[in-house]
Amino acid sequence: MLKISDLDEWRTYANQLRSSGATVALVPTMGALHEGHVALVRAAKDRGDVVMLSVFVNPLQFDDSGDLERYPRTPEHDLAVALASGVDCLVEPSLGAMWPRYPAPTSTTVSVGPLGALFEGAQRPGHFDAVATVVTKLFALTGPSRAYFGEKDYQQLAVVRQVVRDLALDVEVVGCAVVRDDDGLALSSRNRRLSGEGRSRALALSRALTRARDATGPASTRRALLRETLEESDVEVGYVDVVDPVTLLPCDDGASGVARALVAGVVEGVRLLDNAPLTVGGR
Ligand code: AMP
Repeated sequence: MLKISDLDEWRTYANQLRSSGATVALVPTMGALHEGHVALVRAAKDRGDVVMLSVFVNPLQFDDSGDLERYPRTPEHDLAVALASGVDCLVEPSLGAMWPRYPAPTSTTVSVGPLGALFEGAQRPGHFDAVATVVTKLFALTGPSRAYFGEKDYQQLAVVRQVVRDLALDVEVVGCAVVRDDDGLALSSRNRRLSGEGRSRALALSRALTRARDATGPASTRRALLRETLEESDVEVGYVDVVDPVTLLPCDDGASGVARALVAGVVEGVRLLDNAPLTVGGR
């Protein structure tokens, strides 16, 4: 496995791969790798792609400096996981290389409009513009045929799809299902910060999604169930909603068909996200 941090080397390597006829896949991550990340790598390997996995904790997408400081950084573990999962090239750019003007962003940034102001974006202003900017830069450096993202960050996936569509970027965005622990908790690098008791409370997120999925009735009934389930476990509710799976606009009670339930909450100061498909307006 090759390891690169220099941006010129990164671009040259990806160019060489493309000229040799390889299909280059990019798996962007912030490290502290777990089975959710590995699933993205596997999906790429299954399609025969050469996999470049990037690890970059992008400070510009954090609105809370405490969250940024506490974000786990595990370079040796990441190296071992990348190697074991068949990553072809691990890319770890430095902060200075990515954002020479940090803490200011680059003069040019990507702005994602109203989609970026919903849900996570409402609670973390500027978050999705920063995500879109870094992802666009990662795409520009790599020139991947495909890029793999998890449905775990459902709104992020929708934002990336929108960027690719709006800017006519030549990359196929592949979304991969949420990977969970046996108890249902969606894997996340932030789960490391939960105590045993916090982890039990955090299970309310996946339980809420299962309850809302298994219930019948309109979106408002499902929304109420989501909220109630989080509150029962003393999870500080960030938001709950039942939305159109593409536009992410809230479903009204006349809606029927496949929707997406989104939940976000805070346990022990750790922000947790989860989501799942469900059918509204009868079953
Ligand atoms: P992160 O390192 O948290 O920024 O995540 C990097 C990529 O891995 C993103 O596309 C995430 O959506 C994806 N990812 C993180 N956790 C999971 C999970 N539990 N299941 C599926 N994909 C995930």
